[in-house]
Amino acid sequence: MIAVNVGQGIGAGLVINGKLYNGEAGIAGEIGHMTIDLNGKACSCGNVGCLQTVASGPAIAERTQELLRKGRKSVLADWTLHRPQDMTAEMVHRAAKKGDALAEQVLDDAGVYLGIALTNLIHICNPSKIIIGGGVSKAEDYLLPQIRKTIRQRVISSKAQQTPVMRSELADYGSSLGAVALILSELFEPDVT
Ligand SMILES: [Zn+2]
Repeated sequence: MIAVNVGQGIGAGLVINGKLYNGEAGIAGEIGHMTIDLNGKACSCGNVGCLQTVASGPAIAERTQELLRKGRKSVLADWTLHRPQDMTAEMVHRAAKKGDALAEQVLDDAGVYLGIALTNLIHICNPSKIIIGGGVSKAEDYLLPQIRKTIRQRVISSKAQQTPVMRSELADYGSSLGAVALILSELFEPDVT
């Protein structure tokens, strides 16, 4: 299975045969830096168009600000009138739930980008399921339908198109519990090679 955290950044944990897979240099699962747009925005890693430049919390807030600057109408323009830099993905989600078209569009687009990244992951790992956690996953009502639709459209095998994608029931505690689980597994499963 694959656990994906979508928050300030985006990362994934690949669990293979019950063990977390780290890769040769420990960067396995760095899907936030998967290139999604060749001509995209600069990422903190030095590349351009990484997944986290289009689907992380800060990316969702930034995209909303850009569309507002272009004159798009949204309740978010009033909410951030004096401090547009205070825009957050959580505010965008709140606006979407009130039926704000701009906010809904930004979240839907983020869901499509996540769906494309997960399609790539499915083609590489063919996981039994994908769990999404992190702060941005609270917008599951917008993200999950787009993620599932994109996977159905793009994955090449009809069976893998049905890969279950769900939100973590651990909600905000998923990452902390994961870190604890990782430490415990290293304590009790020492690498003897
Ligand atoms: Zn990057």
